[in-house]
Amino acid sequence: MSESSDCIFCKIARGEIPSVKVYEDEHTLTFMDVRPASPGHALVISKAHAANLLEMTEVDLQAVTLTVQRVARAVQKALAPDGIRISQFNGAAAGQTVFHYHVHVIPVQEGQHTGSHGRSSADPQQLALLAAQIRAALGS
Ligand code: 5GP
Ligand code: ZN
Repeated sequence: MSESSDCIFCKIARGEIPSVKVYEDEHTLTFMDVRPASPGHALVISKAHAANLLEMTEVDLQAVTLTVQRVARAVQKALAPDGIRISQFNGAAAGQTVFHYHVHVIPVQEGQHTGSHGRSSADPQQLALLAAQIRAALGS
């Protein structure tokens, strides 16, 4: 399936609902998570709709994986976290809440409890600032 009319991440990919974008190429889109687990938490999605890892085409999976590495390197450069958690969930039982394939890129600081899901919505200005910092590191 290439897209789904009522899927929130398809709507973000089509620009029908807003997101704070970090990076975009032919097959992937990266934007800031609205409920970040930590400052700098980004989501990498395939532009084509696939519910989860099991449904991904090889081309889209390769593209997302390469973007995840690119974005993680930029997060490291821009924010200098102690570590970066990469997480991805398949099925509600595993913790998936949005059923469009996506990978979390989460900066982690030593000594801070950081899960994969945040509890509250981020300040939009803060999200925009973090996205700009990551974008600048992508380009350099
Ligand atoms: P998962 O499905 O892997 O459990 O997590 C989905 C993630 O998407 C959550 O971290 C949640 O905060 C994020 N999310 C849900 N809806 C939106 C949205 O409309 N915009 C953005 N930027 N993030 C979203
Ligand atoms: Zn979708």
